Amino acid sequence: MFTVDAHLDLSMNAMEWNRDLRQPVERLRERELGMTDKPDRAKGTVSLPDLRRGNIGLVVATQIARFVAPDNPLPGWQSPEQAWAQTQGQQIWYKTMEAAGEMVQIRDLAGLEKHLALWNDGTPNDVKPVGYILSLEGADSIITPAYVETAYNYGLRAIGPAHYGPGRYAQGTDATGFMGMAGRELLQEMQRFNIILDATHLCDDSFWEALDFFTGPVWASHNNCRALVDHNRQFSDEQLRELIARDAVIGGALDAWMMVPGWVRGQSTPEAMNCNLAKMIDHLDHICQLAGNALHIGIGSDLDGAFGKEQSPYDLETIADLQKIPDLLRQRGYTDEDIANVMHGNWLRFLRRVWAN
Ligand SMILES: [Zn+2]
Repeated sequence: MFTVDAHLDLSMNAMEWNRDLRQPVERLRERELGMTDKPDRAKGTVSLPDLRRGNIGLVVATQIARFVAPDNPLPGWQSPEQAWAQTQGQQIWYKTMEAAGEMVQIRDLAGLEKHLALWNDGTPNDVKPVGYILSLEGADSIITPAYVETAYNYGLRAIGPAHYGPGRYAQGTDATGFMGMAGRELLQEMQRFNIILDATHLCDDSFWEALDFFTGPVWASHNNCRALVDHNRQFSDEQLRELIARDAVIGGALDAWMMVPGWVRGQSTPEAMNCNLAKMIDHLDHICQLAGNALHIGIGSDLDGAFGKEQSPYDLETIADLQKIPDLLRQRGYTDEDIANVMHGNWLRFLRRVWAN
């Protein structure tokens, strides 16, 4: 079934993990055997051929670069200017993949409809370009809010103001505090260009401030439920209800620690924790119970977000296994219409609404 994945860090993998994503996962793993610089070496699950094999023809793909003040222990750049330059390298990688016929940027309604027609024309997918909607995860690299216009012009269509820790425009996962004046200026510029607010990673204070202040479109590209796995990275029922009221779509994430309670990074294994794809359905189903329908959920797998097989559901070998999800939904009593909505329909309805004018 045609599938949309609303969160992948493809260019980060290309430029920082040094992965040539035109190669299938199997090749990428072979190339990394013996490497120990990152925990997910030789365990990646995402590549362009595997996206095609899984009928995942449209993704939301990020640029990502953090600024860190001297007292911030997280990895990152020492100035916003360096972070900006890093994101520019990333967007040039996407453009280079376009030139190679591997990807195509989707930035408006006409482009979206054309791309969907191509992917649903009945011919094999193995040479079709993977569509990507450009998103920015953490806005530290936006040197001043005026840079939003520059970014919009090269195709940026969604921004998550925060990532992990304190940010320049908003406070993220494991941090606390409000967005303040700079954050509000950023939101204002986003609104001017009809850029989607990605609520994912906003800490509770910044989340409520952002939703209060911002009147444009909101989604949560990769987010699970605090009611099932209690962590500030996840959304509370109150937050989920607010997102549903704003007609948001929330993408279920396949990062094991966000799926099952008690995960210990670097120690737990998916098998021992019984972490399988069905666990994501639990989170999606929880959101459906709050909404009273299946119109606010989708997939935002995050499968290349600095982890691989070691921290993914055990019944997923590569991202192509997202095709197991329709059957799992069917087993829970979801109708064919619900299933199509989860796999692609809800994201597409959202985009058609936002890009209608
Ligand atoms: Zn993330």
